[in-house]
Amino acid sequence: MARSYVHEARKRVGPKRARIVPIIERLVAAHPDATIALRFRDELELLVSVMLSAQTTDVTVNRVTQRLFRKYRTPEDYLAVPETELEADIRPTGTFRQKTRNVRGAMRVLIEEFDGRVPTRLDDLLRLPGVGRKTANVVAAERGATQGIVVDTHVRRLSQRLGFTRQEDPAKIEFDLQRLVPKANWARFPHLLIWHGRRVCIARRPLCERCVLNDLCPASRV
Ligand code: SF4
Repeated sequence: MARSYVHEARKRVGPKRARIVPIIERLVAAHPDATIALRFRDELELLVSVMLSAQTTDVTVNRVTQRLFRKYRTPEDYLAVPETELEADIRPTGTFRQKTRNVRGAMRVLIEEFDGRVPTRLDDLLRLPGVGRKTANVVAAERGATQGIVVDTHVRRLSQRLGFTRQEDPAKIEFDLQRLVPKANWARFPHLLIWHGRRVCIARRPLCERCVLNDLCPASRV
């Protein structure tokens, strides 16, 4: 029963290849302000902000980094203080011991292997401790060197609801999206889904009746 319902819903909205461009266009119109919410002034601040943003809100990260970035301006600065001092400085972002170890480890690799600069190649970014595909993709995309599609909790949920993927694993979802989303939209696409997920397609209570995608979405409740 459930299966045939899903099948009917998918048939009603049509194939994903025919829906993807109209969906992007409608989301661009609905969320013209959809962009990264973290505040940073350069590539190092970008990297640290994204590393701190795991398991917390962008608002909290911005509050912490406002002070943090006045004190730590170079990769060396993060290594010049005792570990406990950096832990205290980032504590409100949660899992601060792990984050401190990762940030300091990443700074060490930047100094030793990349001349203190943040690389743009995904493979290089992935060599930094604590940097996974999501962080690497965000950093590369924000620097104009997009090589993949960021998959966070919103991108995963919306991609599944919109019938773009049946996968659960973020890397597999990303590859499904790479095959579907026109490359020119790889950087913007996750921001659109993230903002739509925060404002309309909320995890527990999607507001389908006021969603601009409700005639193109197999999970629509209207
Ligand atoms: S129609 Fe509903 S489930 Fe589909 S994207 Fe919109 S809010 Fe989400």
